[in-house]
Amino acid sequence: MTKQGELYWVTAHEIGHNWFPMIVGSDERRYAFMDEGFNTFIDVYAADEFNKGEYAPKRDGEYAPGKGNPADEIIPYLKDTNAPTMMARADQFPEKYRHPIEYFKSAFGLVLLREVILGPDRFDYAFKKYIQKWAYKHPSPEDFFRTMNNESGEDLSWFWREWFYNNWQLDLAVRFVSYTGGDAKNGVDITIANLQKMAMPCTLELILKDGTKQDLQLPVETWMQGDAHTVHFNTTEPVQSVTIDPLHKLPDSNRSNNTWN
Ligand SMILES: [Zn+2]
Repeated sequence: MTKQGELYWVTAHEIGHNWFPMIVGSDERRYAFMDEGFNTFIDVYAADEFNKGEYAPKRDGEYAPGKGNPADEIIPYLKDTNAPTMMARADQFPEKYRHPIEYFKSAFGLVLLREVILGPDRFDYAFKKYIQKWAYKHPSPEDFFRTMNNESGEDLSWFWREWFYNNWQLDLAVRFVSYTGGDAKNGVDITIANLQKMAMPCTLELILKDGTKQDLQLPVETWMQGDAHTVHFNTTEPVQSVTIDPLHKLPDSNRSNNTWN
């Protein structure tokens, strides 16, 4: 990281404040995440775009300060029972939680929503609608949540609850893998479990004995009726390994149970 990186990141951030909360007039004294978090979220993509990514990816005191994978770096704060939720008043935040929660957790939550939950097309459409609808007005967090639900066409209450109203953890695991009817020719049954309170959609990566790789995308509804679910995968080839979230996109607090060999 260079000094120029720091100068670029802070300049982009302060320009971003022209929008949050100066045009979309959220109350940053009451809900700091609607100002600092949304602005930091935009900075992540601004760094990717600016001058062909000269200062990308954004990694600074506001976002993944350890310069690593944001999904891994947020985990200590999800585990910290003293950490305030994003709904706490700005002046209730002890200084050590100000950047990690108001900036980083909020911005990374929107990255999860864009990259993992909704996809860029639906997220960008809904987020732009939010900015248009609430420009020169004073949205509350609920106005933001409702606008995103309406404009994305999806009830995201489960996500607002786990990421913004609470400080919950995520731990997805592969529990059992067996051949249907005991024969690899019939395909394979994979039982996955959700060991914590947070729910997330996820990718299941299968590597077959012949070396081919296959990804299954599981929606968040996988967890709607319980904390374990068995997925059938049609193949005649034996399975070498099954991994949940192979690209480390999710803040999974225990990765040692993510792979079956
Ligand atoms: Zn700021």
